[in-house]
Formats: sequence, structure tokens, C-alpha cells
Amino acid sequence: MSSSLARQVAITFDDGPVLDHSGLLDPVSRNQAILCALAAAEAPACYFVNLSSTSPAGVQALAQAWLRAGHSLGNHTASHCNLDNPDTPLDAFVHSIADCDLALRHLGQPPHYFRYPYLRHGEDPVRRQRVEAALAGMAYQIAPVTLDTSDWRLDQHLQNRLRSTPAPPLEAYRQHYLAHIQQRSHAYAGLSGQLLGRALPQILLLHHNLLNALFLADVLALLRAQGWQFISLEQALADPFYTAKAPPLLAGQSLLLAYCRAAHQPIDARLTDNGDWDIAALNAATTTALPALDQALLTSRQQNLGSVDVLFPVAPGRVLGQGEAG
Ligand SMILES: [Zn+2]
Repeated sequence: MSSSLARQVAITFDDGPVLDHSGLLDPVSRNQAILCALAAAEAPACYFVNLSSTSPAGVQALAQAWLRAGHSLGNHTASHCNLDNPDTPLDAFVHSIADCDLALRHLGQPPHYFRYPYLRHGEDPVRRQRVEAALAGMAYQIAPVTLDTSDWRLDQHLQNRLRSTPAPPLEAYRQHYLAHIQQRSHAYAGLSGQLLGRALPQILLLHHNLLNALFLADVLALLRAQGWQFISLEQALADPFYTAKAPPLLAGQSLLLAYCRAAHQPIDARLTDNGDWDIAALNAATTTALPALDQALLTSRQQNLGSVDVLFPVAPGRVLGQGEAG
């Protein structure tokens, strides 16, 4: 495939980092496994964090490992509040942006990108305009999503399974997750062609969770095998598609879907089902994965954690101060 025809994708992660032990991998190992997979694939990423000013230093150290590994951090609000929730006061939402901004500056990176929690941009025009003005005042660029996935649903399913069994069928999760990524990446590439007549540099949304700690390396290998090139978020956002003056309002999903709705074009039901199809397929599948195979998979993940130079922890218990802001 020539470079002019190659499909390009910027990889982004949302949420956390959380310090809960998920089972199988502790939070430091989850973080490092994701960073190792990105490093092995030479894929730049932007991680949209929820950094509360009251979070322990360990949370900030997990985020800082991303900077040290060469990635960028974005603002996802400190508290992950939903702008379209009427119980979220407008001032609280704006303060939550500012709190995350401050925490990011303490980590040494003046943040540039913002992503709305739940991809909710504000259905109420007054709230939307107030937040957009606040973001502009802080020099933020809004980072939409085009290649949306329901990785969070499969992760949720895995987490629930772990509560009943310490040895869930990992190979089954791996296969169904890869099938999900294959379906979504193919469908959104198709939507790009349908709407724009060309291959849009896509922006992929994944989440910082156990599922990706286990299987991100497989996901990246699959995408690369399908001809996708990994580019930075900055490179993707340089495409004129992302600088349209008045894009259609997002409804919690892909910007490509928003354009489809605005144009009254048909939409594949599997793009809006929050992964229901994949969950049903996973539930229907017999758990044929052999425990030995699953253990080998998990062991290989754990053994590979040391393959990238991630300087963690930064300094346990250290309080990041104003003077360290970049
Ligand atoms: Zn989020």
C-alpha cells in the first residue's frame, strides 16, 4: 500500500489512571503494559487523564510515566463530570477543567488538548458556549473521536468475570476484542470514504484499563497488518476535517457518526450499540480457551513489562510543586 493510500490513525486513551488493583495486573503493571505495547509498535499516543488535585502522588506518577515515554497528556476534567448531566453545575464543570489543567502543568506539560467526558459537548447551547469560551481562554483545542470503540464494555465484562473467577478465559476475550477492533476500524474507514470520499486520518478512542494492558499489543499488530499507520494526535488534527467552523453536535460518539446523522445517511447499527453485539458473541462463545494457554498469555504480558524504559515511580510521596510547571 503506498503512503498516499495508507490509512492513518492517532491513538488516544481516556480516563484514570486509577490505583485500584483490577486482578491479574496491578495499576503500575497495567500502566507499564500499555506503554510497552505503544513503544514496541512505535505508536505515539495522547492520554486524556482525570487528575484530581487531591489525588495521591502515585496517580500523578502513573501519568508522568507517559510523558517520560514520549507521549502527551490531555485534559479530561479532574472529576470526569458529564456536561449534559443537569446535576452538574456549570461552574463545577469549568472548575474541573481548571483543576485538571493545574495538575497537568505540575507534571511539566502545558496541556493543549481537551476531551469531553462521555464525549458530551453540551446539548444546551448556553452551557456549551460557556465551556467552549473557557476552553478557548485556556488555549485548549478540543480533541474529538472518529474511530470509537466499546473497549470499556469488554473490559467491564472481564472485570465482572474476575469477581467470580480468578482465571477468566483470556484467549476468548482477546479474540473477541480483536474482532471488535477489526469491525470498528473497517466500518469507520468505510464511513470516511462514504462521507468524504477519502481516507480521513482517524482518531481512535481506547481506555486506560486492564483489557488494553493485556491486549493492546495485539490490537496494534492487527491495525498495522490492516495497513494503518500510527500518527500523533497533532498530525491527525491538522486535517481540514477537524477544523470545520461548525461541526454537528456530538451525541456521545464518533464525529463521523455525527456528520452521518446530519446528512441523514444510514448508520451501521453495530457502531451505536455500545458493544452489545460483541458482548453477546462473547457470552455465546463456549469457553474453549485452555487454562494453560491463558496462563502463558498472562505470563508473557508480565514478562514483557520491563522491555521499555519507563521511569516509574517518579518519586513516591513527592508533592509536585508550582515551580515544576513547564
Ligand atoms: Zn472518559
